[in-house]
Amino acid sequence: MAKRDYYEVLGVKKDVDAAELKKAYRRVAMKFHPDRNPDDPSAEEKFKEANEAYEVLSDDNKRAAYDRHGHAGVDGQAGMGGGAGFNNFSDIFGDVFGDIFGGGGRGGRGGPARGSDLRYNLELSLEEAVKGTSVQIKIPTLVSCKPCDGSGAKPGSKPVTCTTCGGHGQVRMQQGFFSVQQTCPTCRGRGTIISDPCKSCHGQGRVEETKTLSVKVPAGVDTGDRIRLSGEGEAGADGGPSGDLYVQVHVREHNIFKRDGADLYCEVPIDFVDAALGGELEVPTLDGRVKLKVPPETQTGKLFKLRGKGVTPVRGGGVGDLLCRVVVETPVGLTSKQKDLLKEFQATMKGGKYSPKQSSWFDGVKKFFNE
Ligand SMILES: [Zn+2]
Ligand SMILES: [Zn+2]
Repeated sequence: MAKRDYYEVLGVKKDVDAAELKKAYRRVAMKFHPDRNPDDPSAEEKFKEANEAYEVLSDDNKRAAYDRHGHAGVDGQAGMGGGAGFNNFSDIFGDVFGDIFGGGGRGGRGGPARGSDLRYNLELSLEEAVKGTSVQIKIPTLVSCKPCDGSGAKPGSKPVTCTTCGGHGQVRMQQGFFSVQQTCPTCRGRGTIISDPCKSCHGQGRVEETKTLSVKVPAGVDTGDRIRLSGEGEAGADGGPSGDLYVQVHVREHNIFKRDGADLYCEVPIDFVDAALGGELEVPTLDGRVKLKVPPETQTGKLFKLRGKGVTPVRGGGVGDLLCRVVVETPVGLTSKQKDLLKEFQATMKGGKYSPKQSSWFDGVKKFFNE
């Protein structure tokens, strides 16, 4: 099936800004949200389509790729939630729906509430992020109580049906002309009451515990990536399913390399004699030192590309390059003999042919004042 244009899906113009885009997405997503259209199977497709469109258009890089190459530019990137362990979806979801449906919305569909998702901020060095690593993390969380198996009732006993609501969890209250449904105040919506609470968890069904988890970080992750550990979030109340744990990656600044997507940058100082005569520099890469041949007459700021010495991004797309910017360093701490040599040398440099840039610059200045 041919995909619809993302701008068309959200009903926006090509030059839409971030705020308008979010508004449009909110409108479309609300309209087709599966919770609001239980009888319309096509709504879910449209909801997913809107999510995919928003995921691409709200990301500057993906949007630029989409504008240039259409769907071909972003296919395989959008809608990756789940499959590769990365998921931007709940960020968008939480932002858009959190204030509308309320945090407790999920529990209302019957059955015990799912536990909260947790977020762990993981700091990595550039080397760890590029090569991948395995880390042990400790997270304080709520886990299901073992003695009562999460029920909150003393082992051997069972929660009993709430008599106030008859097990429905909801009661009808008269408010003026209206009859409104409210969460049962006795059982707080659970429908059951624990008459004989478990001693370990005091009837909560969950206990606080510091969990130690081993997280495998794939090679090529970058700041902003999230690793989802399904079911490693907080345990749900009343034996409900656990939430997920999101490990948010943050890569520390490196003192030599700067990363930009798949490419790495570094600055390499070079003395002015090597810059003039050419020479060989030792430059660092993440796999050790390599030699870089610098041709004669190399100017400061010149970029040298070392192919394939960058990063292989975790989402695919091929290995990047290492870009070395050479910076010519003016010598310091010269002896008087060295200074004399330089003056002698300078005296041979008259005529402008040794510094074409400087000569043409001075010509330009002269012209500027004469006109
Ligand atoms: Zn009740
Ligand atoms: Zn217990």
